[in-house]
Amino acid sequence: VNTGTKPDISREKSAELYEKAKNYFPGGVNSPVRAFKSVYGTPLFIQKGDGCYVWDADGNQFIDFCASWGPLILGHNHPKVREKVTEVMQNGMSFGAPTALENELAELIIKNNRFVEKIRFTSSGTEAVMSAIRLARGYTGKDKILKFEGCYHGHSDSLLVKAGSGLVTFGETSSKGVPKSFAEETIVIPLNDEHAITAAFAQFKDQIAAVIIEGIPANNGLLMQEKSFVKFLEQTCKDNSALLIFDEVITGFRIGFEGAAAYYDVKPDIVTYGKIIGGGLPVGMYGASAEIMGHISPDGGVYQAGTLSGNPVAMAAGIAQLTELLRNGFYKELNAKTKEFAESIQRFASARSYKLKVFHVGSIFWFAFTDKDKIQTAEDIDVASMDKFKQFHRELLNRGIYIGPSGYEVGFVSAAHTKIELEKAKRAILDALDIVFRNK
Ligand code: PLP
Repeated sequence: VNTGTKPDISREKSAELYEKAKNYFPGGVNSPVRAFKSVYGTPLFIQKGDGCYVWDADGNQFIDFCASWGPLILGHNHPKVREKVTEVMQNGMSFGAPTALENELAELIIKNNRFVEKIRFTSSGTEAVMSAIRLARGYTGKDKILKFEGCYHGHSDSLLVKAGSGLVTFGETSSKGVPKSFAEETIVIPLNDEHAITAAFAQFKDQIAAVIIEGIPANNGLLMQEKSFVKFLEQTCKDNSALLIFDEVITGFRIGFEGAAAYYDVKPDIVTYGKIIGGGLPVGMYGASAEIMGHISPDGGVYQAGTLSGNPVAMAAGIAQLTELLRNGFYKELNAKTKEFAESIQRFASARSYKLKVFHVGSIFWFAFTDKDKIQTAEDIDVASMDKFKQFHRELLNRGIYIGPSGYEVGFVSAAHTKIELEKAKRAILDALDIVFRNK
């Protein structure tokens, strides 16, 4: 058993930058989780990334499993992406008029994805989901949407809603500033519970425009759903003329090129993508059958627009990245690597009776400080276990491993993580676990 904790890495420059940033931004950041509120210390300011590594302002080097929260499936600064972006930039940054690059990225997607016939690009995942909801409402002529506790779908008003008490509830707003009347159009139920779906459709008969679910919920831990549950959801939507929206902002192009819909073998009516689709630049997308997408403006009456939608530089990054993903065996190799990584950590933890489960799917993994074999709902997560994560996070940073600064966040393996780096990371993780559990 490793008994020595490592001294904290030097964070002087990051700390200085953070002090400055606090003068400019609420909490010193431009997105809340970056503020390191649930782990030790203050945010590391990243200076550069290359392959599976990032370096912070103090010159510390880390093997990175955050991957900009998922987009960087090829790793940082991939030469193919960088070259394509640099080439396209020579012709200007934005025109607000169509370019051939939009066709090129759309063709890559539509030709290789059985779930979409027509698509619309946006500039973020939030926008994609918000627009998909509007489309579902416009298409069905109904107002209510059903979502699941423990799924995140971006920060638009109707989705910043959490469950109240009771099995089927009107949501309660999960942010100040969201009107109560908006939350009343969103029904929230637990994941992996067929009974709750039936109850919701009985209670709100003919009022539900759409059910939205993360392809595989991965924003609140990694909450693997039973296939039978997802199939039941698909059938219930059909029976009630409600659209099924798969939010694949994380899982799209990650679990496989066709995301979680292919993994579960369901056919959602609308899908949303983000993250990987833009190769590290801001792109989101929603898509559906030509018939459903025909309701989007200017063809139809559902309005949705964007000054920078389909931005040529962002399209270039997406084209370069998705082209790599379509190479033969890409996912097979990446997913196998991740499986071996996660399972070897699990074997170690189990052998020492550490209360740790490494859940994983595709190239996503999640460290849960629990002894439960399955965690499938938000309620299953032990809030107290986050203390262990906090300590684990610090030990990992001190050993050159960067993961998202919250125990509810998943990690991502990229194609740039070679077996050598995964082995290095594994050893650091095992050492960190020894420290965490020695102090149990
Ligand atoms: N949907 C899911 C499943 C997400 O994971 C996220 C972001 O993490 C979003 C939507 C929102 O995307 P963005 O942060 O690009 O607005």
